[in-house]
Amino acid sequence: MDHKIILKALNITHKYGNNISINNISFEIIDGEIISILGPSGCGKSTLLKIISGIEKIQDGILEIDKNIMSHGAYHVPTEKRNVGLVFQDLALFPHLSIRKNIEYGISYLSNDEKKQRVREMLTFVKMEKFADTCPHLLSGGQQQRVALARSLAPLPKLLLLDEPFSGLDISLRKDLGIEIKNILKKSKMTSIFVTHDANEALMLSDKIIILNNGKMEQFDTPKNIYTKPINSTVASFFGTINKIQNYQKMNNIFKISKLNNQKQDININIYFRPDALNILNEINSDSSFFEGKIIDILYYGNYISVLLSISEYGTITGYFSSAENLEIGINLKLKINENMLFVFQEKE
Ligand code: ADP
Repeated sequence: MDHKIILKALNITHKYGNNISINNISFEIIDGEIISILGPSGCGKSTLLKIISGIEKIQDGILEIDKNIMSHGAYHVPTEKRNVGLVFQDLALFPHLSIRKNIEYGISYLSNDEKKQRVREMLTFVKMEKFADTCPHLLSGGQQQRVALARSLAPLPKLLLLDEPFSGLDISLRKDLGIEIKNILKKSKMTSIFVTHDANEALMLSDKIIILNNGKMEQFDTPKNIYTKPINSTVASFFGTINKIQNYQKMNNIFKISKLNNQKQDININIYFRPDALNILNEINSDSSFFEGKIIDILYYGNYISVLLSISEYGTITGYFSSAENLEIGINLKLKINENMLFVFQEKE
């Protein structure tokens, strides 16, 4: 398989005044990959995208697109010469121009025949053939975003950059459009980077995720590895509720985690597990190791229930169980943590 590197970032650092917004980041993106940049508000996601597009200049490091240096010290290739496509949430379509004219806008350098052909291809790609002569205000939000995508893809860029492309859309449309756009990008083999603060969107839509926090890259890996093998507790905590047992050694193994039986006592170990790592033991055989938890609250989510459990000597933890379980507040459960789903980190208290 061809593993051509389309984007290479080496020790990229960027500051606004004296404030470091991107701190010594390095990564490589391979041809055809969809990458998401995920992190809390203000962590530097948009800045990283602006650096790649050339809107922002870096203070240190090297950025290459398709083996050509784009930024290195004072050397800076401007956005329009980078061969990148941009889709911004607020990059409105021209309201007075038809969809066809909107798409033609970025490819005025082509001959009339080539232009026609390209527009036709792009409209087919995003399934908007019927709307070529319609004006944008007559389209739904999702349709407008598909046209914006077609317009960005029309010049056949090397790299497509999307800044929170779905954030203006309502939640039910978001998921479907996200999957549809992923399919379009995959079909066109377009190497793409999109910014999101929505962890589920990043997991669902990307081949790899860059986790940013305070301008630093915490982890760059596949959704599966990021979710199941987070490198630290910051990454582990990005994906919804997580249980934390601080200074595990002090707990006298009340959680019966056999994997940690031989832990050294003189270092501080914190353990983390997601609510779905907790299992209810209904049948106990003699050698089962389990611990008990008393149900203090139950929230119904339809396809699962979230149960708050009080564990003696410890406090509370949360478990997600099948809504088919017959549970009530006040009853005691026998519980076990799936040790394959446990994250163990040595951390300062
Ligand atoms: P995100 O996209 O993750 O929300 P940004 O990249 O927009 O984060 O911002 C990263 C940091 O840089 C934040 O602290 C933000 O306040 C700051 N910042 C962003 N844009 C500017 C700017 N034009 N001038 C000064 N500081 C900025």
